Amino acid sequence: MALSRAVRKELAGRFGQRAFFDAPMADHTSFRVGGPADALVMPADTPELIDLMRMLEQAGLPWLVLGGGTNLLVRDKGIRGVVISLRQGFSDIATHETRPDSVTVHAGAGARLSALCRYAIEHHLAGMHVVAGIPGTVGGAILMNAGTAQGAIESVLAGIDVLQVPDQTTHLGREALTFAYRKLVWSAEMCGANGYAPLVLGGRFRLQPTRERDLAAEVETLQAMRWQRQPRGLSAGCVFQNPSAEMPAGRLIDQAGFKGFRIGDAQVSELHANFIINRNRASAADILRLMAMIREKIYQTCNVNLQPEIRIVGE
Ligand SMILES: Cc1cc2nc3c(=O)[nH]c(=O)nc-3n(C[C@H](O)[C@H](O)[C@H](O)COP(=O)(O)OP(=O)(O)OC[C@H]3O[C@@H](n4cnc5c(N)ncnc54)[C@H](O)[C@@H]3O)c2cc1C
Repeated sequence: MALSRAVRKELAGRFGQRAFFDAPMADHTSFRVGGPADALVMPADTPELIDLMRMLEQAGLPWLVLGGGTNLLVRDKGIRGVVISLRQGFSDIATHETRPDSVTVHAGAGARLSALCRYAIEHHLAGMHVVAGIPGTVGGAILMNAGTAQGAIESVLAGIDVLQVPDQTTHLGREALTFAYRKLVWSAEMCGANGYAPLVLGGRFRLQPTRERDLAAEVETLQAMRWQRQPRGLSAGCVFQNPSAEMPAGRLIDQAGFKGFRIGDAQVSELHANFIINRNRASAADILRLMAMIREKIYQTCNVNLQPEIRIVGE
């Protein structure tokens, strides 16, 4: 169901320059594919966000929270309803609490993960290396339990601030959160009576003060290793989850002969077979067809059912 004229008018009235209509999602995703979202709204603060959520809930309109769009594949006809971006009003980073053996840093969901890593280095705080080099926002990283061979974001998280739809803000300590491989699992209790997944407003990160370690050099080394293995070009990172640590999806796809294979402008990377690269003008349909071919072949040859790591949204 597309947005009615009345809803568009109301959003334009409430959010002014921070509401965009028929916004091409290709402009907001690292894959650079995806049709238009009916509306893209950037609330400036929590009261504004609550206002928006009340309105959407009452009108029965669907929404999607957008982080940096680095793990999203938006289909070609785009997104019906409202895409919510927290990039403008929720990007503060500040020290929350200092103890002799740990420092807790708060970062808004819309802050760049790279900005949080930089803040940690500048303040001589160790721990963020587990996610160094991962693109996207703090909110997206928490939702995806983003990680590297060094660990995942769950290992440095002390808690998160959430908005339970439409208007309850709560802090959830780390002990209340359940993480799985590349995802945060919301409990039924957190989703409340209406069943909506909460929005992450920010996270608190427990880091270790250090004067001895050269954190910048450590991260630089990790980044250099990343660039050796990770293709440049338009992508959303690893397309499929690894079936297990011993059986990385990239190896299976490589062994099945897909490196370099392309459909239209969507190509399996020559460097890392679990990356699909948009060579220039790939459509979401090209990428989805390539993913379907890979899944079918791997199932037939290895009896393994690859699961997407990227989130596929829209119509
Ligand atoms: C080149 C490249 C390399 C990558 N390398 C890695 C890697 O090493 N490790 C890794 O784990 N990932 C990697 N990724 C994938 C991606 O960067 C991570 O998953 C990242 O954490 C996603 O963050 P984002 O802000 O872009 O989220 P998005 O892609 O915008 O969103 C991801 C999901 O989170 C939801 N979401 C986002 N913000 C919020 C919020 N505030 N509240 C509620 N829901 C929200 C969205 O609705 C969506 O379902 C890579 C991607 C690229 C392009």
